[in-house]
Amino acid sequence: MTVKTDLKTLEPLIYDLGAPGRSSPPLLPKCDVPEEPLPAEFTRDDLDLPEVAENDVVRHFVRLSTLNYAIDKGFYPLGSCTMKYNPKINEDTARLPGFAQLHPLQDASTTQGALALMYTLQKWLAEIAGFAACSLQPAAGAQGELAGILMIRAYHQDRGDTKRTKILVPDSAHGTNPATSSMAGFTVVELPSDERGDVDLDALRKAADDTVAGMMITVPSTLGVFDEHIQDIIEIVHGCGGLMYMDGANMNALLGVVKPGDLGFDVMHYNLHKTFSTPHGGGGPGSGPVACNEKLAPFLPGPIVTIVEDGAPDPKAGDDSDIAEELAPLYGWHMPEKSIGRLKAFHGNFGMHVRAYTYIRINGVEGLNAISRYAVLNANYVRALLQDTYHVPYNRICGHEVVLEGRFEDAPDIHALDISKRLMDYNIHPPTNYFPLIVHEALLIEPTESESKENCDNFVEAMKAIAREARENPQLLHDAPHTTPVSRLDEVLAAKQLVLCCRVVKEPASG
Ligand SMILES: *Cc1c(COP(=O)(O)O)cnc(C)c1O
Repeated sequence: MTVKTDLKTLEPLIYDLGAPGRSSPPLLPKCDVPEEPLPAEFTRDDLDLPEVAENDVVRHFVRLSTLNYAIDKGFYPLGSCTMKYNPKINEDTARLPGFAQLHPLQDASTTQGALALMYTLQKWLAEIAGFAACSLQPAAGAQGELAGILMIRAYHQDRGDTKRTKILVPDSAHGTNPATSSMAGFTVVELPSDERGDVDLDALRKAADDTVAGMMITVPSTLGVFDEHIQDIIEIVHGCGGLMYMDGANMNALLGVVKPGDLGFDVMHYNLHKTFSTPHGGGGPGSGPVACNEKLAPFLPGPIVTIVEDGAPDPKAGDDSDIAEELAPLYGWHMPEKSIGRLKAFHGNFGMHVRAYTYIRINGVEGLNAISRYAVLNANYVRALLQDTYHVPYNRICGHEVVLEGRFEDAPDIHALDISKRLMDYNIHPPTNYFPLIVHEALLIEPTESESKENCDNFVEAMKAIAREARENPQLLHDAPHTTPVSRLDEVLAAKQLVLCCRVVKEPASG
């Protein structure tokens, strides 16, 4: 089999399509403002644009879009990233003109519907996690983390407690946790995991002193497990005067099962683009709301939505009227009194708020709980079916994801990467590779709650088939993927010199 490495051999560039005069003339409406010549420095006589008919343009880009793998094309078990489906109704609500065509600088009196939605979402997100307040500002999980850690810093500073310079971070934490802590100016103290994948309590006790500002812990951890001593951990950290940050990016393992606020956490962030089904990665901007208890509420990033005037009884509603008995309250913007400030222009990624609101609204309390039960069931189903084929280093009931080792004693040349690349030939997106760092040849797998038993079975069968191939024909794995438009890339080069657009380089005229 030939290894295809050059996309150009498969797909023509748009510049190779069409011919002079082929494109339809632009149909612009008649100009309704006075025409002004463009400044000369912005105009050119010669612009080398392709002239392509509409149907050829559409076919070209639709074809290109199908070369890429996406959650709408197949199973996407990317651990720690929750690539679950994005309900199409979310797109309908986000496109309602009353939401989509708002301007962020509009006066609050003209945006009451949007503010009501944000207020409700703040309230729901606070309630779901057992917290007092919430800010929708952060634009990603990592930014939510930064908000939470800056709030912890501001809290200690506000009390004049300036000796707290450390944040404790378990070695099973998401990589953004230590990055966030040091970005906020703290020294990161890494805590080891014990043999069950929980935080080593002795190490924690040793580290817990009055220089600790707090602890950041990912729940469930990136080993996919829920720490069995979470209450002890919280008690120890609180005992030394530190605060507890929960990385709740993957709350789809805990919805309706555990409220972090009830456990004693002080602050956490959500990832709306994981737990609440808004598009992820290249598919859309993220959103990482941060929720906290009363103690930290004054420090939330803002402004946040608040009720400035309670709803009054509707004077127009008669006794037998079936219209609302109460007028809606008046919503407005409020900067929490000791706010760490603004994290984002305007009000966060509002389109994501609409989508998450829609998802929560559709699911309701029971639906949210079912999300977590299915997320945990699917991960444990995959674990149980694969545990005899792949080594499961922390083999216990897991949360929404499970980590396997992508290596075999009797096929020593095979690495996790080979297995992942081969999965692409089975039309499955690779799981997360080489993370968490504390597992050799890690394959971190999250089926998600939105996949059927059949899809999980199909994945398990592919993983078993690859384990057989690893012994029988290891070269097949080393050369994989075979069925994709481009085969194995130099990943370092691809990351360092990402080429996202094509440029036509004209050959210098010869002679
Ligand atoms: C995805 C993730 C993050 C980071 O979220 P981004 O939106 O990518 O910044 C942080 N922690 C955990 C556990 C995650 O899974």
